[in-house]
Amino acid sequence: MASISIALSKGRIFDETAPLLARVGIQPRDNPETSRKLVIATNRRDLRLVVVRAADTPTYVQHGGADLGIAGRDVLAEHGGEGLYQPVDLRIAKCRMMVAVRKGFDYEAVVRRGARLRVATKYVNIARGHFAAKGVHIDLIRLYGSMELAPLVGLADAIVDLVSTGKTLRANGLVAVEEIMPVSARLIVNQAALKTKRAELQPLIDAFAQAAGR
Ligand code: ADP
Ligand code: MG
Repeated sequence: MASISIALSKGRIFDETAPLLARVGIQPRDNPETSRKLVIATNRRDLRLVVVRAADTPTYVQHGGADLGIAGRDVLAEHGGEGLYQPVDLRIAKCRMMVAVRKGFDYEAVVRRGARLRVATKYVNIARGHFAAKGVHIDLIRLYGSMELAPLVGLADAIVDLVSTGKTLRANGLVAVEEIMPVSARLIVNQAALKTKRAELQPLIDAFAQAAGR
């Protein structure tokens, strides 16, 4: 029996994946949220979970560090998706990738004038692609989190970040001015593994698709 591994991250992705795992019949032996283990056995002897940082999930699966993974479309777009199949939209961890600015900052006017825009984000590739397509010149500032702070202290004019309720933006006097893409989590598969282990992986992919309501 070939062994199968699924890469996923703690926090939102695990929280929202847990019910899907249950529907697929996978019971983790430890809770990734409280355990320090990075490799977690399950009720299926042939299947284990590997716990990674959200932004690292595509990299692990691309290089065969895991056969399958669960990653947000944000992380996949930023990574580029090389070496990965993305067969199932799991329709969980839904939010939107947005451009946001300080309330009162006239984003439309800056775009119309063709002025340079200082953009802070951890999604540098997504931001670069988005503004290039609009013909807006940007100075890109790479951050690793708490992007909302950047416009408040004058580090940037705009941020590119995920928005779900908009509460964090509002609490910091920011407004979303443009949607870049809707985001949800996807099941991803190592392309080579799908060829060599199709008999094991395909039923699992089908089960996730069904659990996600496809
Ligand atoms: P990290 O802080 O390490 O990026 P998170 O748990 O905050 O980890 O985010 C993991 C993934 O969950 C993101 O890549 C995204 O796909 C999704 N996500 C993040 N924020 C939200 C949100 N506000 N609403 C829904 N999904 C989100
Ligand atoms: Mg986060």
